[in-house]
Amino acid sequence: MKDFKKALVLGGGGFIGSHLVKRLKKEEFWVRAVDLKKPEFSESEADEFIVGDLRDQNLCKKVIDQPFDEIYQLAADMGGAGFIFTGENDADIMHNSATINLNVLDNMVKTKNNKVFYSGSACMYPEFNQLDPENPICSEESAYPANPDSEYGWEKLFSERLYLAYARNFGLDVRIARYHNIFGPEGTFDGGREKAPAAICRKIALANSNGEIEVWGTGQQTRSFLFIDECIEGTLRLMRSKFSGPVNIGSEEMVSISKLVDIIASISNKKISKKFVSGPEGVKGRNSDNKLIKQKLNWEPSLPLSKGLEKTYYWISDQLNK
Ligand code: NAD
Repeated sequence: MKDFKKALVLGGGGFIGSHLVKRLKKEEFWVRAVDLKKPEFSESEADEFIVGDLRDQNLCKKVIDQPFDEIYQLAADMGGAGFIFTGENDADIMHNSATINLNVLDNMVKTKNNKVFYSGSACMYPEFNQLDPENPICSEESAYPANPDSEYGWEKLFSERLYLAYARNFGLDVRIARYHNIFGPEGTFDGGREKAPAAICRKIALANSNGEIEVWGTGQQTRSFLFIDECIEGTLRLMRSKFSGPVNIGSEEMVSISKLVDIIASISNKKISKKFVSGPEGVKGRNSDNKLIKQKLNWEPSLPLSKGLEKTYYWISDQLNK
């Protein structure tokens, strides 16, 4: 009988996790996924899907009970600006995500599991380097002195350090990515936790052909957005490289939010006007810096933003028409 490699995907019911499970299945892994909930938009392809709460030490013990070739830790309490930048969810975000990471690492050591990928975030970069929308600094070494603009970012920074401490003291083989705004089909597009590309696709899909949509902030804030397939590719390349990170996994194609709306409007063939309203907008500018990933992995994402947005817009508009 063929000896399948085993992977554990924590957060396997989420956006990135469910895409990762699909990819690992294509590579013929045996996959166990764990999440509070099953994926929202398609059946999970995991061989075993355990619905449970990773804040619970007993559940963690049950799911990390044997050696895995690869463990991916993507579970976190997260969402878009409307969830993480308002301040209303700060205690939950910090408590829930930190508890998951503490439990996971503790059980990895107890079961002699060694190899783990941790999904950090560009939200851990200091706010003072992201005040100029045209020239944000997000190179990996600019993380310190630290001053993220959200508690979500502080927890991500703490957890990066936690994984590195387990590597140092218990010999764990960790890989740490700092993801920059991942988007694509099967991502949340309503309900309050959606991110800018999905929210704008939804608003435009629902607007008339000469409609107006509300956009949070001045529209001059800048970001880069990475299509899900490239996020998964970068994740696997990092996991199977000799480099631990932390390293940015993001696109360097920076756009203003106003421009993002224009690109999606042109995909939709609608003439959309923008009404800028006050709302949580996060830092003024953010872009991935891909020098380190190019140097260490000899790879960087290359899909143009408009291509990923096309796939995402059509998927969201189909969902709304269902
Ligand atoms: P997501 O919210 O779709 O996935 C996270 C999953 O974790 C969810 O399905 C959620 O149910 C699960 N989860 C939360 N608490 C849990 C608990 N106590 N027990 C079990 N499962 C729990 O988010 P995503 O976009 O797929 O993000 C995956 C990871 O990547 C997260 O750690 C996130 O912080 C990180 N990240 C994502 C982005 C992005 O743009 N999507 C950017 C930076 C970092």
